[in-house]
Amino acid sequence: MSDLIERWVRPEIRGLSAYQVPAAAGLIKLDAMENPYPWPDALRREWLDVLCDLPVNRYPDPRGAALQQALREAMGVPPGQGLLLGNGSDELIQMLALTVAAPGRAILSVEPGFVMYRMIGLYAGLDYVGVPLREPGFTLDLPAVLAALEQTQPALVFIAYPNNPTGNLFDVAAIERIIAAAPGLVVIDEAYAPFTDASFLSRLGEWPNLLVMRTLSKMGLAGLRLGYLVGPPALLDEIDKTRLPYNINVLTQASVTFALHHRALFDHQSRLIREERAVLYRALAAIDGVHPYPSDANFILLRLPVGRASRVFTALKGAGILVKNLDGGHRQLADCLRVTVGQPEENRAFVAALIAALERL
Ligand SMILES: *Cc1c(COP(=O)(O)O)cnc(C)c1O
Repeated sequence: MSDLIERWVRPEIRGLSAYQVPAAAGLIKLDAMENPYPWPDALRREWLDVLCDLPVNRYPDPRGAALQQALREAMGVPPGQGLLLGNGSDELIQMLALTVAAPGRAILSVEPGFVMYRMIGLYAGLDYVGVPLREPGFTLDLPAVLAALEQTQPALVFIAYPNNPTGNLFDVAAIERIIAAAPGLVVIDEAYAPFTDASFLSRLGEWPNLLVMRTLSKMGLAGLRLGYLVGPPALLDEIDKTRLPYNINVLTQASVTFALHHRALFDHQSRLIREERAVLYRALAAIDGVHPYPSDANFILLRLPVGRASRVFTALKGAGILVKNLDGGHRQLADCLRVTVGQPEENRAFVAALIAALERL
């Protein structure tokens, strides 16, 4: 077996460790940017009626036409722009990478950023260029990005807006300069659109190489796996050729369409999360030695006193609270944890456990 693996599995794949998702049973789950609010019972029953009638013996609608229409209306997709659906936006990143991949070509993004750009680029055989963000505040280093664009001529540029895991929005004028200077496609990843007023969706068409990617995961439908890409129709037609047939299953198509017809509920939940984000930020800022970073997303990045983040993470877990430990990963994230905004009582439990851990450790 190991001979087989050594001979045939690509060295860059052998060198990877699989994407780790920690077990969360019994814990207050504040690690994955999920919406913490369940659906009201009446809505669940109505949804079951929809599911009841689905022909699961048939393949799904290959393009998800009804779902596309519901998305266009609910999300305000500008008329004349194309729309492509993915099994989560992760699959869209993969389709984009497969569309442009060739030896010597590269993906460019900024760091610390969303790790899947690099990972998926690697699966597809693309080189990866990560331009460091500038501290304090994790802002775009425009001269460095422009120089890297010039030097590496990336086929694809990804900019998460707001950025994960830092939570901030980048300067609009700097992003405009990057879109204009990039030789290839520029994808603005708006995974956290429900929690900010900023967006490039209405700017589509101003540049031929601009695409906007979004997901329904952070809005509250992470379990259904649906992402969408908006951009020039001719470009999306090419990317569509890399899509596996029937990538969006029947249950997801019907459930998301149903959910979008109840958009007001999700808007309400997003507003609650935004309010609660401000409450949580103030509580964290009031703790001695804790530095929370301002966020336009549904999570907050926080820096702890030097050398304590990993022990605090473990203590929080012991107290029944799961957050994301970023310490020991990216150099600029030493001593950092990332906490998803939960329900008010979950956030209060987190803050209390954090204070207790910092006093003890
Ligand atoms: C969560 C996240 C995604 C992936 O979302 P899925 O649609 O669930 O695959 C993409 N980009 C960023 C920046 C994210 O944080």
